[in-house]
Amino acid sequence: MDRKTHNKSPIIVWFRQDLRLADNPTLWEACQNGQIIPVYILDDLSAGTWAMGGASRWFLHHALQSLNNALSDRLNIFKGDPLECLSHLAEVTGAETVYWSRCYEPWRTARDIRLKSDLQNLGLKAISFNGSLLWEPWEIVKKDGSPYRVFTPYYRRGCLSYKSPRKPLPSPKKPLIANKSKCSLSLCDLNLLPIIPWDSKMSETWQISEQVAQNSLDNFIAEGIGDYQQGRNYPNKGNVSRLSPYLHFGLISPNTAWYRAQNEGSMVASQDNIDVFLSELGWREFSYYLLYHFPQLPERNLQSKFDLFPWAQDNRAMLTAWQKGLTGYPLIDAGMRELYSTGYMHNRVRMVVGSFLVKNLLIHWREGAKWFWDCLVDADLASNSASWQWVAGCGADAAPFFRIFNPLTQSEKFDAQGDYIRQYVPELAELPAKYIHAPWQAPSEVLSAANLSLGENYPMPIVDLKQTRETALAKFKQIKASD
Ligand code: FAD
Repeated sequence: MDRKTHNKSPIIVWFRQDLRLADNPTLWEACQNGQIIPVYILDDLSAGTWAMGGASRWFLHHALQSLNNALSDRLNIFKGDPLECLSHLAEVTGAETVYWSRCYEPWRTARDIRLKSDLQNLGLKAISFNGSLLWEPWEIVKKDGSPYRVFTPYYRRGCLSYKSPRKPLPSPKKPLIANKSKCSLSLCDLNLLPIIPWDSKMSETWQISEQVAQNSLDNFIAEGIGDYQQGRNYPNKGNVSRLSPYLHFGLISPNTAWYRAQNEGSMVASQDNIDVFLSELGWREFSYYLLYHFPQLPERNLQSKFDLFPWAQDNRAMLTAWQKGLTGYPLIDAGMRELYSTGYMHNRVRMVVGSFLVKNLLIHWREGAKWFWDCLVDADLASNSASWQWVAGCGADAAPFFRIFNPLTQSEKFDAQGDYIRQYVPELAELPAKYIHAPWQAPSEVLSAANLSLGENYPMPIVDLKQTRETALAKFKQIKASD
């Protein structure tokens, strides 16, 4: 086919995890060619076990609403088999080419490879772009061609000494968008919002649009990055960016965060603070890298000796107490309730609740990952799986198993006045800071002055920290011996 004629037919832009106009190389390239047909397809069937959880669906609904507004209400929406949807759309619009930004979840990669060749068989061309990573996972390898397994050499020797990430692109000016196809569903047809309205706190917590993602980055640069290195450890301080769901769904690109943090951050923050923030974006890259090179990451221990770990059997009641934030350990309960009500949990608290589940309750990390998958608005197969394996000690570059976070000392250190706990565990709001980390140590008159009756309106601790720690270490010794 002659290229000139080819360029005249509109291009289908399949939005996936790049729900934005600014710095979207896929959309940018398509717009250079002429008219575009934007489309989103909800494909739960190919996702299988990894179909999005409730909180992510809620976030996605609002992200699509905002994208559709930005595209002058011309976003085509479908659900089902992408081959059917795309080939039908091509047929009714005369499009000959489909553009998309690459995704890295193993189910998506497998589907996209199949899809590319199926589309080709139908005479359609599919072209993919990098719209969500700073470095492609296959670009960064050791001298011998094998993948890195440890973060620091991956990031320093691999990424930072490779090509600089692509510089952000502007939004396309006046994109030519084809009218919406008659066969498009409406956003509500995707049924992404909950039937039972559990989302009121989420709506208070999140505003969802590309502009809000940019504003969050502005605020972070103005108020957070200056003390990011230290402040990021304190759940009640505003030093973190809260960009994770926007990055996951692509309402903002990592390239934008990377370059703006460097350029504008340098006016308000020391290089150390900026570097720590960039390295957190690096951990996101590393998670995708691990998922790409070790696609078993969401299901299986990367260190196979953990396959023999004797997890507690029948620990349903403990798991439920953890999920509901009723463990009797205030920091854990605050984190789990923050998660359930807002769809987010601060990183330090994620590490502490994860360690408690795996090491004090001896429950498999996959149960924790599954609960997070359903509850997080930033649920991300790469970051969630890699982080759970890190917490459990069975990952590629993991915290050693014997590093067991103590929820009491973590609480005293990082929420000294108990403000975070009071926010999410209102039963404890009246307790003085001295007792808020361990209410069971408070004298009875302090408890009654705080309207607290342990075992009635707030639980006693469900396990003993010292004893469960010793049991965990003994079990770890067993698998170490078999190594
Ligand atoms: P900031 O501190 O502002 O960091 C900026 C960005 O860097 C984040 O938005 C995120 O994209 C990335 N980032 C920061 N820390 C990490 C990390 N440790 N690993 C990977 N990327 C990181 N993050 C997710 O995005 N999705 C998940 O499903 C997820 N599950 C997790 C599960 C556990 C058990 C743990 C311990 C961590 C998990 N994380 C996950 C990583 C991290 O907790 C969140 O990315 C971070 O708390 C998001 O808040 P923020 O945007 O304010 O982070």
